[in-house]
Amino acid sequence: MDAGIGFELGPELKALREQVGKIIREEIIPIERRIDPDAAEIPEEDYRRIALKTQAAGMWCMGSPKQYGGGGLGAFELCVLSEEMSQHRMGLYNPGAGVFGRTPPPVIWAGTEEQIHKYAVGTLRNAWHTFFAITEPSGGSDPAGAIQCRAVRKGDTYVLNGTKIFISHAHEAEWGVVFARTDPGAGRGGITCFIIEKGTPGFTPRPFRTIRTSAVPCEVAFEDCAVPIERRLGPEGGGLSLCLDLLTRLRFPYSACNIGVGVAALRMAIEHAKHRSTFGELLARRQAVQWMLADSEVELRAARWLTWEGAWKADRKEDARMEASIAKLYSSEVLGRVIDRAVQIHGGYGVSKEFPLERWYREARVRRIGEGPSEVHRMVIARNLLR
Ligand SMILES: Cc1cc2nc3c(=O)[nH]c(=O)nc-3n(C[C@H](O)[C@H](O)[C@H](O)COP(=O)(O)OP(=O)(O)OC[C@H]3O[C@@H](n4cnc5c(N)ncnc54)[C@H](O)[C@@H]3O)c2cc1C
Repeated sequence: MDAGIGFELGPELKALREQVGKIIREEIIPIERRIDPDAAEIPEEDYRRIALKTQAAGMWCMGSPKQYGGGGLGAFELCVLSEEMSQHRMGLYNPGAGVFGRTPPPVIWAGTEEQIHKYAVGTLRNAWHTFFAITEPSGGSDPAGAIQCRAVRKGDTYVLNGTKIFISHAHEAEWGVVFARTDPGAGRGGITCFIIEKGTPGFTPRPFRTIRTSAVPCEVAFEDCAVPIERRLGPEGGGLSLCLDLLTRLRFPYSACNIGVGVAALRMAIEHAKHRSTFGELLARRQAVQWMLADSEVELRAARWLTWEGAWKADRKEDARMEASIAKLYSSEVLGRVIDRAVQIHGGYGVSKEFPLERWYREARVRRIGEGPSEVHRMVIARNLLR
């Protein structure tokens, strides 16, 4: 009987996963061991050297469309690879230290051919940082209600005024996208997306520090910032629906990174438990420790299946919005629990900067807030169940 479900990854994907893992283990982790544990990036010369290798091996921007220079992989394949890519110190917010290329905000693929060529293809070629600005001081959970940043059309130009907050990479990005209100009376249909280039007069990003080491966020001020009409992305009023659809697909590789860091933390906890003795017995022989390891394994496997199932549905063009919320919610909460147990098993070493655990512990906390807080994803899931 053909049950119609395959549990085996194809040989090509398995080989690619092995290659990605090898680069992380043999290239990225040794560099991270010799640099500042709080570094956001690896040194430029190392970055260039390894990026040339991944480009030559066809492992560059694997999730971006093929016709624009990407690898054309689907969400499922990207999940399998992202889990490997994130298994290093800076891997949660800088998977693979960027040596597999950098992805532009996915809304750009809804742009005109000129916009795609100038901004998306430029990013694929040059590994530019980009930004995605939706959150405002008035709130990020409910952008449809909270966005106050205004864009007023004057001839062939829009003039933007307002403030965005927590915008990752805005100070170092070549370009990014911002969502502003063009019609205050039209609710979610009154929000429009614009492309902002670095150095545009009236656009001022100010970086500030948070619990997270990588991908520093900024407060971004727009003060009479003139944006030509060619930099409007999509139709006027179409900003929010554009962004919510395209962001759904991103939630699967994002969740896979949560799983990858969890897997790496659990591997460290197992190794430590097998070598550390207290009161004349290895930690690995204590049931209290065994249960922490067992619970972590169970939860990581469950998170992986939820993520893979959702990605598989998204690749089949099925509606996977609820699955995206389930994967994001569960994987980020599991990540927090797994790292917490790994820190506990390591004792004092768990919070030492000698090991990546303390950085993962800090950065994992953001995963339950960024890309929509857990409560908002629960709300989306409940809404679907009760519809
Ligand atoms: C380090 C970092 C980087 C970020 N990067 C970006 C970025 O690049 N671009 C960007 O646009 N944004 C970014 N964000 C913003 C992030 O998406 C928002 O912080 C998030 O959406 C929550 O918005 P808020 O902080 O305004 O919290 P609020 O919307 O004020 O919500 C506060 C809390 O209220 C609770 N809550 C909210 N709604 C509900 C509800 N319906 N039911 C029950 N409880 C609820 C949740 O616990 C939530 O955490 C970043 C945030 C951080 C911390």
